[in-house]
Amino acid sequence: MSDNLLEIKNLFVEYKSKKGFLGQTQAIHAVNNLSLDIKKGEILAVAGESGCGKSTLAKAIILLENAKSGEIKFQDENIFTMNKSELKNFRKKVQMIFQNPYSSLDPKMKIFDTLKEPLKINTDFDENEIEKIIYKTIEKTGLDRECLKLYPHEFSGGQRQRIAIARALVLNPEFILADEPVSALDVSIQAQIINLLKELKEDYNLTFLFISHDMSVIKYLADRVAIMYLGEIIELGKTDEIFFAPEHPYTKALLSSVPQITGNTEEKIVLEGDLPSPADLPAGCKFHTRCPYCMPVCREKIPPQSRITDSHFVKCFLHQSML
Ligand code: SF4
Repeated sequence: MSDNLLEIKNLFVEYKSKKGFLGQTQAIHAVNNLSLDIKKGEILAVAGESGCGKSTLAKAIILLENAKSGEIKFQDENIFTMNKSELKNFRKKVQMIFQNPYSSLDPKMKIFDTLKEPLKINTDFDENEIEKIIYKTIEKTGLDRECLKLYPHEFSGGQRQRIAIARALVLNPEFILADEPVSALDVSIQAQIINLLKELKEDYNLTFLFISHDMSVIKYLADRVAIMYLGEIIELGKTDEIFFAPEHPYTKALLSSVPQITGNTEEKIVLEGDLPSPADLPAGCKFHTRCPYCMPVCREKIPPQSRITDSHFVKCFLHQSML
């Protein structure tokens, strides 16, 4: 078995959306030929602007979004060809934490029942064992047993996110997809939840795919960082490599907006224009419409991946020795 918990190869995810008065459908190219490995026990962060495909990627991994083509292997098994019992096992091992905890908490259910539901569906534990798991898990997330008698609306945003985390943990998963888990919370609460996730990673021996647009949270939490742009990973490296030796012009622009994190006092790089629509992807390098270093080749050809170090990769023609 490899060191990778998850291996994604040449993944494409596309969905249809209606446009204009006549309601014609158009294809949204949300994830484009994306390949990425996630090592056991690491926190891999995926960073990028809103609309770059981060959430669609997470949903494709947890089978909430259909892939058009490509492969995702979890523990060496292709999740797209799993049979019913393999899928049931996969769903126990892989859990997701959403930005808005309301999406995983039923407002009409008491917290005890919310935590009990996945255990009833996915395990053969008896009532006694289920109760013990629920008590242990809720206490691990920093809440007391009394809260189990209450409904979601009786909690603050931070407490609700703790409950959503507990719900993700009751099945003792191996892999957590966390999609902007703190961005809806007050800044003072964000640090508490981030520290909780860090603690739980050690206690439960977890692997994380952590999606965020907040580079300071990523720097604090992640072991490696993947920078995503229009559905592609355009740079990947250890956290220090990305923050202190970024190579892609887009990564440099993202980081120039947070000089307090990198200590880089060079002028802020302001990108021209908005993120192009994933319904109308630019040819060649997808970043060429905003790149200050764009060359003729960038408009025609897709840059291949270049290796900077054994752990640091970038897709940009500036790093092709042939040019
Ligand atoms: Fe810019 Fe060209 Fe590199 Fe794309 S390949 S990031 S357009 S220099």
